Amino acid sequence: MPDTTDADVLVVGAGILGTSLAHHLLLRGAGRVVVVEAETPSAATSGAGAGFVGLWAAGYANFLTDTDLELEQYGIDFYRRLAERTPDIECRTNGNLYLATTESGWTQWVEPVLGHPLAPKGTRQLTPHDIGTVTGGVVAPGSVVGGALHPGGIQISAGRATRALAASVRELGGEIRERTRVTGLIVSDGAVIGALTDTGLIRARRVVLACGAWSNELLRPLGHRLPLLRMVATRVVSPPSGVPDTMPTVMVPDLYGLWLRAHRSGLTWGNGDGYSPSYELDDAVGTESRPHYPELVDRLRERLLPGLRTLVPEHDLSIDRWLQGIPCMTPDRSFLAGAVPGVPGLYVLGGDNEAGVTHGPGLGRLMAEEIDTGGSDWLDASPYRLDRFEADRFPTERDVADAMPARR
Ligand SMILES: Cc1cc2nc3c(=O)[nH]c(=O)nc-3n(C[C@H](O)[C@H](O)[C@H](O)COP(=O)(O)OP(=O)(O)OC[C@H]3O[C@@H](n4cnc5c(N)ncnc54)[C@H](O)[C@@H]3O)c2cc1C
Repeated sequence: MPDTTDADVLVVGAGILGTSLAHHLLLRGAGRVVVVEAETPSAATSGAGAGFVGLWAAGYANFLTDTDLELEQYGIDFYRRLAERTPDIECRTNGNLYLATTESGWTQWVEPVLGHPLAPKGTRQLTPHDIGTVTGGVVAPGSVVGGALHPGGIQISAGRATRALAASVRELGGEIRERTRVTGLIVSDGAVIGALTDTGLIRARRVVLACGAWSNELLRPLGHRLPLLRMVATRVVSPPSGVPDTMPTVMVPDLYGLWLRAHRSGLTWGNGDGYSPSYELDDAVGTESRPHYPELVDRLRERLLPGLRTLVPEHDLSIDRWLQGIPCMTPDRSFLAGAVPGVPGLYVLGGDNEAGVTHGPGLGRLMAEEIDTGGSDWLDASPYRLDRFEADRFPTERDVADAMPARR
């Protein structure tokens, strides 16, 4: 016989966004919180995330705002505290480094970081020699023209942090129901009153969809569609080669958005060559948690590896293993955190724009405040409202891609 559960808030999805939200709801005493997860916490995009957590709104990504910057700082402080209780999230407080390999890259990418009005305290310009030193010799000084360091930036294991948050949800009295899929939402008199799962019914007057790339599947029967572009993204892991764990995270925007960091004495890395909008791939997003497109790894190998070898000549860059996930982009590259228009009780936390690890704790807090008290005393959540997009303005994922602002 199917079981019936009562909850004050039902969260669908135990990625970094769903677990962050549930954690903050429980801290606020928002009642019985049940998280339903089709697989296990971090099984989908969050477990593939590279774990860079930085102040991207301070000069690196011009579409991010001062409010986003607050979320970013909250995320950094949150993970630092989480690491004190859960050291295995592998939080490294080594800073975030932005490099240029050309003079035009310097002007376009590094100068805005150095000159940003909200540049964090201690931001400093680095010479090629300094870059060799702070990366422990990983980046060859001769391959770069200079860089900027945000000293307060951190890196974490995104999968482990998600699982640590799931454990915290349980410790705080919440429930996480794993390997259970929400198959439909139940609406009565226009308002959401619960959800059906493959094992039973959950009654809840507040339901939050934090199910990433699968959010529209649950909204479609209600006649709603979020303007999301599902983007398959690849992270490559190279074997141990003596990379020091003191190395800052490295961004090289003029190498088509290269990102690189230490990973258990090897390196993990990727760039735009390992990305593809789902509409360019066959069957891109099924019900599997993680996509599997070896052709994107081949493309990384062919296009990025030669330039990467010049930047990192002394370390093993062979591909030991690789992971893919499906971040969801929005037309303005900002997040979705708010009520679904016209369906009382239903909320969405998503549109992660490939920055959900960084912004997840802050978005989780903001959304918990919204659900608990109808608003936030902390930050103005209106930039993340769902109704900022007119219904049907972006009928296809390609329309979302066309609208998205370039990083600069
Ligand atoms: C290669 C790569 C590198 C990245 N690097 C970074 C980085 O350095 N920094 C950063 O900030 N971000 C990074 N990101 C982005 C980050 O990983 C995402 O923004 C974040 O993981 C999204 O979290 P989520 O909770 O929305 O999604 P998910 O982790 O996908 O969680 C959604 C969950 O919902 C579950 N679900 C779906 N449908 C249902 C259903 N019907 N019923 C029940 N459960 C359901 C899924 O199983 C899944 O676990 C990266 C992503 C990738 C792929």
